[in-house]
Amino acid sequence: MKALVAVKRVVDYNVKVRVKADGSDVDIANVKMSMNPFDEIAVEEAVRLKEAGKVSEIVVVSLGVKQCEETLRTALAMGADRAVHVETDAELQPLAVAKLLKAVADKEQPSLAILGKQAIDDDANQTGQMLAALLGWGQGTFASKVELNAETATVTREVDGGLETVKLALPAVITSDLRLNEPRYVKLPNIMAAKKKPLDKLTPADLGVDIAPRLKTLKVAEPAKRSAGIKVANAAELVAKLKNEAKVL
Ligand code: AMP
Repeated sequence: MKALVAVKRVVDYNVKVRVKADGSDVDIANVKMSMNPFDEIAVEEAVRLKEAGKVSEIVVVSLGVKQCEETLRTALAMGADRAVHVETDAELQPLAVAKLLKAVADKEQPSLAILGKQAIDDDANQTGQMLAALLGWGQGTFASKVELNAETATVTREVDGGLETVKLALPAVITSDLRLNEPRYVKLPNIMAAKKKPLDKLTPADLGVDIAPRLKTLKVAEPAKRSAGIKVANAAELVAKLKNEAKVL
């Protein structure tokens, strides 16, 4: 069984992003970039499924600039077998990403596509759902547990009210939530070995996909600064402040 895992190169989660002076975007020049944390979890899950003998091949795919190769090499070092890089300098919005991933899935014919539940840069939380719709596959989003059988995947989902379990016919799309697993640290010998693993290059044009953005960013701004909080002595004072100062009651 083949698993396709999507990995996005994003600003590292430790970096405090700044807005460009002209308010057109966030500034990512000279900023540390890493694999999207939810995608690390997606790769880890695929590797564990392979170690358990449920998955036979893991293909990782990343879409974007040349440096996505580094992200793919990390995924290969974690245990993926092969990588596909769809290279473009163009801005990619979730619909374009989903269309490109569908084109890759059409070529690769995986039984399972695993994505992160969301990318920590755009926080869109859309791509997995759009991909499932475009492919006509079932979807198990926000997965905190995955059990794979020959023809089905049983996915425990983290939903607002608690946990929900869905049984999906394969092929299916799964998106990873935080509690699915803890990704492994990559060891040096694996990093060396990953350099020799195959990494294929494609372009959006090779896949015949129109990646034109459908949304236009009008302005990017810092969130308003929050003023410091205060301690109140008791509930009566809290209620009075909410009534008279915050005027929310
Ligand atoms: P989003 O819908 O943008 O929050 O992204 C959800 C998931 O889609 C990510 O966690 C990735 O698994 C996948 N994804 C989004 N953009 C890309 C990209 N450029 N390359 C590879 N995977 C991506």
